[in-house]
Amino acid sequence: MWTYFAAVAIGIVFILWILQIFFLKYGYEKMKIQEVERVGGVLKSAYLQDSSQLTQKINELSVVNDFYVMMEVNRTHILFSPDQDNALPVFSYQNQIPKLKEKLFASKDSQASASYKFSTSFEKYNTLAYGKFLDKTEGNEAIIYIFSPLYPVTSTISILKDQFINVTLIALLLTFIIAGYLANKIARPIKDITYTAKQMGTGDYNVTFRGNSFSEINNLANTLNVTAYELGMADTRQKDLIANVSHDLKTPLTMVRSYAEMIRDLSGENPEKRKTHLNVIIDESIRMSNLVSDMATISAMRTAKIELKKTVFDLSTITASILASYEILESQEGYVFKFTHPKECKVYADEDRIKQVIANLTGNAIKYCGTDKLVKVNIRKVGKKYRLEVSDNGPGIKAEELPHVWDRYYKTSSNYVRATSGTGLGLSIVKEILTLHHAEYGVNSKIDKGSTFWFELESIKPQKS
Ligand code: ADP
Repeated sequence: MWTYFAAVAIGIVFILWILQIFFLKYGYEKMKIQEVERVGGVLKSAYLQDSSQLTQKINELSVVNDFYVMMEVNRTHILFSPDQDNALPVFSYQNQIPKLKEKLFASKDSQASASYKFSTSFEKYNTLAYGKFLDKTEGNEAIIYIFSPLYPVTSTISILKDQFINVTLIALLLTFIIAGYLANKIARPIKDITYTAKQMGTGDYNVTFRGNSFSEINNLANTLNVTAYELGMADTRQKDLIANVSHDLKTPLTMVRSYAEMIRDLSGENPEKRKTHLNVIIDESIRMSNLVSDMATISAMRTAKIELKKTVFDLSTITASILASYEILESQEGYVFKFTHPKECKVYADEDRIKQVIANLTGNAIKYCGTDKLVKVNIRKVGKKYRLEVSDNGPGIKAEELPHVWDRYYKTSSNYVRATSGTGLGLSIVKEILTLHHAEYGVNSKIDKGSTFWFELESIKPQKS
């Protein structure tokens, strides 16, 4: 950091040196010539327009610019000079006039001007001689001569040089101080953050990134802290997932193995017992396959960016088809399904995924229904949305557990012992799908009274054909 700062400081000082000293030396004369030419132009137009003003104009301009001006009309010298400048070596200037004149007449151009540098015996420095035709018509010739001392710039340059040495030293000192300060403020915390990040790389997510008063560093540290937290959570979730999955698979697998052994060793010959045992094996394998497919859905939703295939469809139609698949429960096991809905409830969503949501919610209502075995599904319009509610009169969920039922692998405390059929993934799939739809959802529940799970989807106006 210090090297870069020093390079920048030295670079700037160097450019200043070049600009000031180099260009001062060579630019000064150029500037003088330009100035003389400009004044020549001004005087010419003054002469052509209103020659009565000319004398005043010449006086003005020569004082301002420190020029010595002579004018020649019809080959007679008329002299103008700055009043205060008696010391000017007028004669040596006049000596230059034949040469200037010669140069001017040598040129065919009536606009011509001539200029050159010469030295006088009076002054150590050079003088610039300049001549220009004010009028070139025969018999009316008028020429203006301007002499401008070219004061030496060497003394100025040597003063500047001294100053630049000071400026360079001060710049380097400031660079050193500022670079040191910034290194302390930026580079050090970045080093610390890098060290902490390496530590995090080894799997230690309990690290804290420390920022400082610089908002950028602070933002970086905060972002990394959030990242560390998220990674830690993801890590824990992954570990939990593996633990849960292996636990959840272990029980049914043990059951399958023990019942298969039982059939082999004991019940093989007894058709009734064998049937019961085989049914256990079938139930357990269904459970395992449900678990595996739920996990597949969840991981697909988490890892890949799911694209919803949204279409317009009728919410009541798909609900009715799901409820129809429970018909066997109605006819053989005494379940009662009550479904109320408006005539038409068109929504715009991913049909298959919403089907899965409804199936999971009704499936839960069946699993956790009360002794009345009643499951109610109701669709109604709320504002511009359709709200679907699935209610049961079951055990309900404790208020403090309500927010957690949407978590993966969460089973309420009352249910943990009892439920053998649940995977604990159903509601987290529901949450995932509804979140993708930006849909609102929720649950109301009262212990021993029952639960109502609901969600809302945007309604689409029935299209008129
Ligand atoms: P599971 O496969 O265990 O049902 P879910 O994610 O579907 O997993 O549900 C999570 C937990 O929420 C369930 O284990 C249960 O404790 C509770 N739960 C879900 N639906 C209901 C309901 N209708 N009534 C009471 N408890 C419910």
